[in-house]
Amino acid sequence: MENRNILLIIGGGIAAYKSLELIRLLKKAGARVRVILTRGGAQFVTPLSAATLAGEKVLMDLFDLDDENRIGHIELVRWADLLVVAPATADLMARMAHGLANDLATTCLLAADSDILIAPAMNPVMWEAPAMQRNRRLLAGDGVLFAGPLCGEMACGETGEGRMAEPVSILEHIERLFLQKENEGNGKADLLKGQHVLVTAGPTHEPVDPVRYIANRSSGKQGYAVARVARDFGARVTLVSGPTGLSAPAGLDFVRVETAEQMKEAVLAALPADVAICAAAVADWRPGGDAGHKIKKTASKPPELRLVENPDILKMLSQAGARRPHLVIGFAAETRDLVKNARQKQKNKGCDWILANDVSSERGVFGGDKNKVLMFQGQDYEEWPLLDKEEVARRLMRHVARSLSNTKRVAE
Ligand code: C5P
Repeated sequence: MENRNILLIIGGGIAAYKSLELIRLLKKAGARVRVILTRGGAQFVTPLSAATLAGEKVLMDLFDLDDENRIGHIELVRWADLLVVAPATADLMARMAHGLANDLATTCLLAADSDILIAPAMNPVMWEAPAMQRNRRLLAGDGVLFAGPLCGEMACGETGEGRMAEPVSILEHIERLFLQKENEGNGKADLLKGQHVLVTAGPTHEPVDPVRYIANRSSGKQGYAVARVARDFGARVTLVSGPTGLSAPAGLDFVRVETAEQMKEAVLAALPADVAICAAAVADWRPGGDAGHKIKKTASKPPELRLVENPDILKMLSQAGARRPHLVIGFAAETRDLVKNARQKQKNKGCDWILANDVSSERGVFGGDKNKVLMFQGQDYEEWPLLDKEEVARRLMRHVARSLSNTKRVAE
């Protein structure tokens, strides 16, 4: 971070106090920090605190730029190697998504030619609101990078997704971003440049009633590794994840869902994609009927669960006609007859490649860090040794990059 210039925009939310800690961490890591405090931001932290930590005068108004610093907003954004918005409020995100430039913060964001990283923070219901999610997609499509938000308890007392990412984790996102830039400089990040890679990961939770759900043992580790490697190879990545204990990787569009239906909707909303990799362990069935109230324990007999079929996301993508990604890849978790079952699955789903893995309990694949894979491409398959999930992801993405560049060569 030595000598990196960061322009930090602090929006008006209760999480603004955490941004003071972010300034401290950035300075400690060797970065130069200039701070813009929006009018709302100044309701939560004082310009004096921010200025003391940054060691620079805090900017609050377009008018400030004409003062003794003699620095205009264009100069300010050209100075910055990265713009960070933390907290990014719903209002600020909406103005960014629609290109408004009605204060110093949004004017700088519109004039930026370096990367923009935002850390959203808002009430969970606001975060889930269709308009907010529309804006999130617009921003992600424009290349804006996201840190968080996290799931947890909010200052307003409600619980859900909307908590601002912790300052340490925002710092990690920033460090990762600069590292990626260095990699780009030495050519490592070119393999999937310009490609949109869509990845599903983790289990799904299917509610039985408001307190119970059906789930499976998927940890999400393999899917997250695939998404990280695709990002490091230079792709734009959308990671749609079911509930996992893993934190959202930096530098990609991260969508958290719970159920198979939500995963399907998120996947559809992320199209078009060049490559889709379905690593999620989607529940095949969900409890049917009305799950509005907790099912009561009665003395007579246990309740009967009626299950209905969930959408098959891999199949849907494989058969998506004009919207079908060029390459659709599935995973087959099997406990026996690996080759036979994988071949059958490849045919049934209509996907291009299948990575079959033995998940019988003695293998420790579910939740573990290693994976043993057979990779089916057309009629052939390769058997890979027992590898770290990270290495499985690298091998897979190298195959993907090779296949896409062959397709491109044939098209030319
Ligand atoms: O049919 P099965 O669940 O074994 O297929 C596994 C593959 O299909 C995985 O790639 C998984 O992500 C995908 N799948 C899906 N939607 C489902 C079920 C499985 O995308 N409803």
